[in-house]
Amino acid sequence: MLDCAIIGGGPAGLTAGMYATRGGLENVVMFEKGMPGGQITQSSEIENYPGVTGEVSGMEFMMPWPAQCQKFGLKHEMVAVNRVSKEGEIFKIHKEDGTISQAHSVIVCTGSSPRRAGFAGEDELFGRGVSTCATCDGFFYKGKEVAVVGGGDTALEEALYLAKICSKVYLIHRRDSFRASPNTVERVKNAQNIELILNSIPQEVYGDNMGVTGLLVKGDSGEIRDIKVPGVFTFVGNDVNNQILIQEDDSFLCDVNKHGEVIVDISMRTPVHGLFAAGDMRLSAPKQVVSAAGDGAVAALQAISYVDEKLNS
Ligand SMILES: Cc1cc2nc3c(=O)[nH]c(=O)nc-3n(C[C@H](O)[C@H](O)[C@H](O)COP(=O)(O)OP(=O)(O)OC[C@H]3O[C@@H](n4cnc5c(N)ncnc54)[C@H](O)[C@@H]3O)c2cc1C
Repeated sequence: MLDCAIIGGGPAGLTAGMYATRGGLENVVMFEKGMPGGQITQSSEIENYPGVTGEVSGMEFMMPWPAQCQKFGLKHEMVAVNRVSKEGEIFKIHKEDGTISQAHSVIVCTGSSPRRAGFAGEDELFGRGVSTCATCDGFFYKGKEVAVVGGGDTALEEALYLAKICSKVYLIHRRDSFRASPNTVERVKNAQNIELILNSIPQEVYGDNMGVTGLLVKGDSGEIRDIKVPGVFTFVGNDVNNQILIQEDDSFLCDVNKHGEVIVDISMRTPVHGLFAAGDMRLSAPKQVVSAAGDGAVAALQAISYVDEKLNS
């Protein structure tokens, strides 16, 4: 029986793990389906985490986090969790390998995943020229032309990253202005090899056996532009990873809002006693590393109080 099960090993889950173990919980396991680190490991650079002043990639930034947690006793099981249920006072963690772990408390930190842009050919060519991670795949297009789809901070930051590697970046956005921060927009506008294609929507990505060869883009007056590129990077938002909270009867274990975000109070508590949610997946999350880490700490402190009270009453 675990004192606390933490699902997800991004900034929220790792911080929760450190606070839970360091705060005295004995048997704490973080279930993470891949390598710990979370989404930020896809970022080419993080410059808005307090104290991080040099040029540091997301991967480098997250590298020391797991070891720091292990030092205090956090255990890591590399497995995907399919579902979390509660029977009586006990939580059950149903894992992809068919086994079940039991826990007094659960902190869900499964974050979010990049959304598909929804144009023809995107799914078929995903991983063969269509990508949602410039840091992971940008190098394949060194010296070549690529297209980036999106208008937020992530799209523009990734366009800037690709502009350093690729000969040219076409930045396609459906509106005439960007939602990104003014500083980032300015850098994009000043980049010599980024061409803005505004008021335009991708219609179809096409290719051959080798992968993507081009993208058809429709402008607001209806004209179609054929952009011959071997790589298309989409950055159009994220979906909340809340699937593990769906029960056998299709209801959610706790409340979620219309965006799928888990509804919590300011202590990261859900209305289900002993169940907490932290990071990008919770209601109105700022979707930043610093806030995800803060949420993880708050949730762990609450879990410690909950378990102490439960076991000692
Ligand atoms: C390209 C990019 C650039 C970014 N740049 C910045 C930046 O500069 N500054 C900043 O502050 N933020 C940035 N962010 C946002 C930041 O990465 C997130 O806000 C933060 O990672 C959220 O942390 P989290 O722990 O809530 O979730 P995540 O980082 O999403 O971690 C969730 C973890 O849960 C795991 N998981 C999911 N489902 C399961 C399951 N069923 N079973 C087991 N494990 C599961 C996932 O594998 C993942 O490791 C960026 C994000 C991206 C994608």
